[in-house]
Amino acid sequence: MIDLSGKVALVTGASRGIGKSIAAEFSRCGARVALVARNREALEAVAAELAGDTAIFSADVSDNEAIANLIKDVETALGPIDILVNNAGITKDGLLIRMSEDDWDSVQAVNLKAAFTLTKAVTRGMMKRRNGRIINITSVVGLTGNGGQSNYAASKAGLIGFTKSIAKELGSRNILVNAIAPGFIETDMTADLPADTKEALLSQIALGRLGAGDDIANAAAFLASDLAGYMTGQVMVVDGGMVM
Ligand code: NAP
Repeated sequence: MIDLSGKVALVTGASRGIGKSIAAEFSRCGARVALVARNREALEAVAAELAGDTAIFSADVSDNEAIANLIKDVETALGPIDILVNNAGITKDGLLIRMSEDDWDSVQAVNLKAAFTLTKAVTRGMMKRRNGRIINITSVVGLTGNGGQSNYAASKAGLIGFTKSIAKELGSRNILVNAIAPGFIETDMTADLPADTKEALLSQIALGRLGAGDDIANAAAFLASDLAGYMTGQVMVVDGGMVM
């Protein structure tokens, strides 16, 4: 079992799906976890399920002012942040020819710019303490591209460039920065895909099954732990062998 006791983790998008699984796994491993999303009732329900020390924070990660307050509130409630997981994400799929500027901007704001704002906000403290872990949840689509998802794929590819760049900037301060690229994980985000699309995706997965939130949570717990102490700037692909 991975040991994260004594650590404080902030997980965005923790109200459901992959973020909920990561928060639950971190909590099982002994971390104190700040659960962040917009929907307060959903966060309360997640916190009620977790046995460990958690606190909930309702915030829109694309709102810069909200983020400055969020970091202060989390550190007051739980203590200095050791681990940041930039997981909150949205899709607004469509072919480029029909994509509105708002569909482009809102996806970049939540999936990419919020990671910049949150990471910058926690980094000052981590630099002083010479200790920190940042884990960005990207996607295999950020590596391969995907028709109908140019906004989403661009945000996820941007997150990979961001991960590698700040890994280089912060390595000397013992702040390790990595990304996880999930494949096709069963969550609300993928629930509405047509059955034939799901079948086609399944046929490309070597392990022959869709992923679960726990598959990503296990990778995140590893990257947050001492076991990953010599890993930074990496993209860990967790996709059942879909993209090789
Ligand atoms: P999901 O089930 O739709 O959950 C998304 C989470 O993000 C929710 O907790 C949502 O909570 C939160 N969120 C969305 N917009 C937000 C905002 N503006 N401010 C704060 N929180 C916000 O999605 P998921 O499948 O778990 O995806 C999680 C991450 O994994 C995303 O970055 C996604 O791109 C990535 N990913 C998913 C898959 C997949 O197959 N599912 C594959 C590759 C990568 P509220 O709505 O309450 O704010």
